[in-house]
Amino acid sequence: MKSLYSYILTNIFLIVIISCSPAEKSKGGDFADMIITNGKIYTADDQFSIAEAIAIKADSILYIGAADSVKKFTGSSTKVIDLNGNIAVPGLIDSHLHFFGYGLAKQRLDLTKTKSWDEITYLVAAAAAKRKPGEWIIGRGWHQEKWHSALPESFEGYPTNRLLSDASPNNPVILTHASGHAIIANKKAIYLAKLGDSVTVPEGGRIICDSTGAMTGVFEEEAEMLIFKAYEEYLLNLDPETRKSADVKTIMLADSLLVSMGLTTVHDAGAGLKTIDLLKELHGFGRLNIRQYIMLGEENNLIIPELKKYYMVGAYDDHLTVRAIKRYMDGALGSRGALMFEEYNDLPGHSGLRAIPADSLREIADAAAKNGYQICIHAIGDRGNSETIDLYQSVFNLYGKEKDYRWRIEHAQHLSREDIPRIFENRIIASMQTIHAPSDAPFVIKRLGDRRASSGAYVWRDLIKNGVLICNGTDAPVESPDPIRNFYAAVTRKHPDGGKAFFPAQKMTREEALLSYTKNGAYAGFEENIKGSLETGKLADITILSKDIMSVPDEDILSAEVVYTIIGGRIVYKKK
Ligand SMILES: [Zn+2]
Repeated sequence: MKSLYSYILTNIFLIVIISCSPAEKSKGGDFADMIITNGKIYTADDQFSIAEAIAIKADSILYIGAADSVKKFTGSSTKVIDLNGNIAVPGLIDSHLHFFGYGLAKQRLDLTKTKSWDEITYLVAAAAAKRKPGEWIIGRGWHQEKWHSALPESFEGYPTNRLLSDASPNNPVILTHASGHAIIANKKAIYLAKLGDSVTVPEGGRIICDSTGAMTGVFEEEAEMLIFKAYEEYLLNLDPETRKSADVKTIMLADSLLVSMGLTTVHDAGAGLKTIDLLKELHGFGRLNIRQYIMLGEENNLIIPELKKYYMVGAYDDHLTVRAIKRYMDGALGSRGALMFEEYNDLPGHSGLRAIPADSLREIADAAAKNGYQICIHAIGDRGNSETIDLYQSVFNLYGKEKDYRWRIEHAQHLSREDIPRIFENRIIASMQTIHAPSDAPFVIKRLGDRRASSGAYVWRDLIKNGVLICNGTDAPVESPDPIRNFYAAVTRKHPDGGKAFFPAQKMTREEALLSYTKNGAYAGFEENIKGSLETGKLADITILSKDIMSVPDEDILSAEVVYTIIGGRIVYKKK
């Protein structure tokens, strides 16, 4: 029973609200703006309870529970969504993707579905025919391990650029590998990059040359920049207005595509300060829907002096947070850049590479600890992961172990057994991309051999068993940002396009997979108090799906569609 005191307090409060806000009166005091009812709602709360209805007021959840109890919140202007067999889950969070890169990739040659080098050179020739001489052709997504026919000419397993140069003699071409860790450029691009015989290879990079010493067109890791610099120079020579409107177009495109897939928050794994300035402008005008958690991606000398100025939490009604820094420890497995303790099975004498010198990583880790930033280091190889844990541990020892750092390892892909408990002990978050496991499956054993692949590759089950928190993402544009495909990969260890399960003992349960996309993602961004589960007072970020992905047979998960995406109580996507 209500005490008199609380009765008086409540009523005083109501009087104050009504008198301050006449507009609310006509809408009806505690009536909801929106009600979602008559279906299964997975709340992802601590009990993993299931509700029937949600009432939303402004951008937050007013009530969640039984369908009968929600009726009292229905006013004349309340919008009612009848789930009618659909399900609702907390708004999905992709904890690792490249927002701007995804927007760009959607405007470039998409090579992710290509099945041969011939097909790629054909696509490039067609693109060149549509462009003026000198205009660049940029593509992404090729992967030599996924091609059906043998390469006409190859070196170290990569194609050479002869046919690419024939296909586009007058337009410079850069085609990025699906992993992002290697590119192939045609002769025109190499010419514009002014790479003579005496070129210095940047640390952490490799230029692939054939047995005669001639460049094959492939550039790995840091050496990619030699070619991208020429492309950047081309862009810089465009007038500023043209460039800005192209950037706005890229951002708006990424925003609309991501919300159409049911995502309500994304963690951007590496943005530049200029991009953040533009995002601020767009969020300020209310032109973007998605919520963004940004990791700064630029070099130490650019960002360290700006850490205080750019730190922001929950700006623009919880749409923009900048409090993390992205760095790379090593490369990727596909391009044999992942830093391993032992040599690669298919490239003896080579055990990967360090992407950034250790003192530079240490410098940024110190700056992060001092300025309250989270560090998110990309580490794929077992040695890369181990050295990342060493670095974190030494920073925590110096600045105080008790602090709530939540530092993350992005990918945490190949682990030595001894490091799994160390990840837990240091409360490090494993930010993984479940789709990478079945996607990489065709070459993991080739690169690492059976022993290493079975004991340490994408070991979600072992990490969870050891108490490690896993947040999930897609690394888009490396993979599609579609959370349903990624969820399927998490619970089956199979690729959505087919194939066998990859070490299925490591798969997640449906509940774990949903948490990796909701609550754990929120925690990884220090946002568990406002999102990640559907509970009274939290933001009304909700994804409505056409099928119950928590109970349908595995193969039916993939046909689930996003029916609504709701961010802060607003419908930002509705299936047509
Ligand atoms: Zn990434």
